[in-house]
Amino acid sequence: MKVCKFGGTSMATSEQIRKVCSIITSDKDRRVVVVSAPGKRFDDDIKVTDLLIDCANKYLSNGDYTTVLNQIIDRYAEIAKDLGLNDHIIKDIENNLKTRVSLSYNSAEKFMDRMKAAGEDNAARLVANYMESQGITAQYMNPKDAGLFLSDEYGNARVLSQSFKNLAKLRDIEGIIIFPGFFGYSLSGEVVTFPRGGSDITGSILAAALEVDVYENFTDVDSVFVASPKLINHPKPISVLTYREMRELSYAGFSVLHEETLEPVFQRGVPVNIRNTNNPASPGTMITPTRELINCPIAGIAGDKGFCSININKYMMNREIGFGRKVMQILEEECIPFEHMPSGIDDISIIVRKKYLNDEKKSRIMERIAKELRVDSINLEYDLALVMVVGEGMTFTVGVLSRITKALAENNINIRMVNQGSSEVSIMFGVSEKDADNAIVSIYNEFFN
Ligand code: ASP
Repeated sequence: MKVCKFGGTSMATSEQIRKVCSIITSDKDRRVVVVSAPGKRFDDDIKVTDLLIDCANKYLSNGDYTTVLNQIIDRYAEIAKDLGLNDHIIKDIENNLKTRVSLSYNSAEKFMDRMKAAGEDNAARLVANYMESQGITAQYMNPKDAGLFLSDEYGNARVLSQSFKNLAKLRDIEGIIIFPGFFGYSLSGEVVTFPRGGSDITGSILAAALEVDVYENFTDVDSVFVASPKLINHPKPISVLTYREMRELSYAGFSVLHEETLEPVFQRGVPVNIRNTNNPASPGTMITPTRELINCPIAGIAGDKGFCSININKYMMNREIGFGRKVMQILEEECIPFEHMPSGIDDISIIVRKKYLNDEKKSRIMERIAKELRVDSINLEYDLALVMVVGEGMTFTVGVLSRITKALAENNINIRMVNQGSSEVSIMFGVSEKDADNAIVSIYNEFFN
């Protein structure tokens, strides 16, 4: 049995949905299908989820929401018509969207999640309807009926453990199940969504719950590449990656999978296969618990911008028991997650994503650390990018770091910090945002050209 997930570009037009259906029916093991909301049809297009967010914001601020609501209805109507479906389904989708807006709500975040979830929910109804129209036994499955329960963290939900047992029962259902991605229900019955891009997470939860042979994640590229095709012309494709490698790469900017996707499948060892809806013959990239290490120690190079570093210095810091804990406690009290923490004997840097620090929080944290820990100096370095070099093959391989730093030096890139965890599966380089792309290209050329 396989769980397949199809992303937004696979749902964007009737032509794409036809491809999706032929992929599903070409393998009888593809029994559970997770769908995203219709995504972009062309570069400047707007995803249905973004239209829904816009519509919800306009409604909440008493603006004119009807124009964008009609735009969303038209998107579905156009696909349904092109697929030759009858007017019933178009009316159903229209009613579904209008009801979501008109039902009462008691908090803006609950209303927002109810609206956001409409993209996937109606895409699933549409695909199920199309498959039935083709004489295929398929049904739409509501996440509440299936028992997908989530924490009540709106827009940022996590799966509750009882969901796995509930979802395992889907095995007994005859025919193909079309399951909307991206949302589930809180225990009190409210719609709650995962973070953006979260349909990947739904697919992973189902794959884990059903303990399937493989979780196929269909997107619009032939495979995962060693580095971003936006930076490198025809980068080397990757045929196999481990969960750890993929997790590190998604964390640091590989957008092919949501970074929280792998947790459920990792727990149960279900392999993930990234594949292309537009080229189903391509074997794609397999993500497995382990892999054979051949030739190159590096599996991938990723980079992400938008970080800053809180640099703290205090003479004799190494002798002060509990110093690190006290810094962390301040961050905890201010609800700031940290990413890395490189340190020296008298200094420590805390790398944080800029999005968590507004001006007010920034000055309060700096002031608290300075005062409560009586540090000698503290400053905030903005404009930091992280470049991650990832590969299980780096473990115990001599000379990888030296080749990377040589490549960066030859390209005149200043390394502001380096961090290697004990697993040796990744090395993080902090560089200026302006140097990030060039750093990735330089490292790629050193190892792959
Ligand atoms: N439609 C949602 C988004 O655009 C979720 C997803 O596509 O995975 O974020």
